[in-house]
Amino acid sequence: MKQFPRHPLTFGPSPVHPLERLSDHLGGARVWAKREDVNSGLAFGGNKTRKLEYIVPDVLASGADTLVSIGGVQSNHTRQVAAVAARLGLKCRLVQEHWVDRDYPENDKVGNILLSRIMGADVRLDPSGFDIGIRRSWEDALADVEAAGGKPYAIPAGASEHPLGGLGFANWAFEVAEQERQLGVFFDTVVVCTVTGSTHAGMIAGFAALQESGDGRPRRVLGIDASATPDRTRAQVERIATNTATQIELGRDLRPDEITLLEGWAGDLYGIPVESTVDAIRLSGRLEGMIIDPVYEGKSMAGLVDLVTSGEIGADSTVLYAHLGGQPALNAYPDVFA
Ligand code: PLP
Repeated sequence: MKQFPRHPLTFGPSPVHPLERLSDHLGGARVWAKREDVNSGLAFGGNKTRKLEYIVPDVLASGADTLVSIGGVQSNHTRQVAAVAARLGLKCRLVQEHWVDRDYPENDKVGNILLSRIMGADVRLDPSGFDIGIRRSWEDALADVEAAGGKPYAIPAGASEHPLGGLGFANWAFEVAEQERQLGVFFDTVVVCTVTGSTHAGMIAGFAALQESGDGRPRRVLGIDASATPDRTRAQVERIATNTATQIELGRDLRPDEITLLEGWAGDLYGIPVESTVDAIRLSGRLEGMIIDPVYEGKSMAGLVDLVTSGEIGADSTVLYAHLGGQPALNAYPDVFA
């Protein structure tokens, strides 16, 4: 990874620790967490902050004065883009679409969008619904900034379709291997929440490269779909994983068994928690004091709980749960926990 310029935005390697009470409760595999929710001092951090470390050098080289990005109203990604823009002294224009079909009246006032406003981003609401692809509203925002004499830098949803979007989590895999050496543990299974895809895709490429270097024993990276549009998410993961593998010179094609996206915990709609989501949020809060959100990690934790209790992840496994952040969105879901 050394050949790729990286602009540090995180505190360093994110913490890894065992979830002992959760593991005891589930009665099977031992479960640990790696905590991207505390990876940075920039507006609560999260997975996008790691991705942006590999994108910022390109931003600075481009001479842009405005970061332009897009997400749902409660997007964690746009909040992290706003924080990075503030840190770099750049302007920030955010398109916040109506990705989640809920009518909580404070949705566009609290949580992530509140934080983006505090950090000085120019936040614009747009009525379009959920879609992980390239959006018209975002292209319009780019044109708008240009027409006003600005120099925009385009960051797509989740920073996933950006050419450098997979590198942050390819590097995550190498970081995990180093932490395993330090801790004397081996994680044979990684569980990660997947929506726009580059977090999962980067991990796939990174762990494949580790294995090729003779370092890694076989391990599974299990993506848990939280998009509720799994075919599109799977295609995006495959494309970004393949692209990232080429960039880091894997030297072979990825095998189909290396790309696993599991369905069953997203419910019918992105951003709408179902019973298993709420149960998983309460469980990790009650047993570990670990807070997870109703859009992403609540769904991946629900998957982990079922996979461990059913024995699909065997009792002799050691699992690494990727906690990718996202707690500010909880402020837009108080009714779910009333
Ligand atoms: N978890 C959180 C908290 C997120 O904000 C996101 C972003 O979409 C994800 C998981 C999924 O990551 P990705 O979009 O890279 O698949």
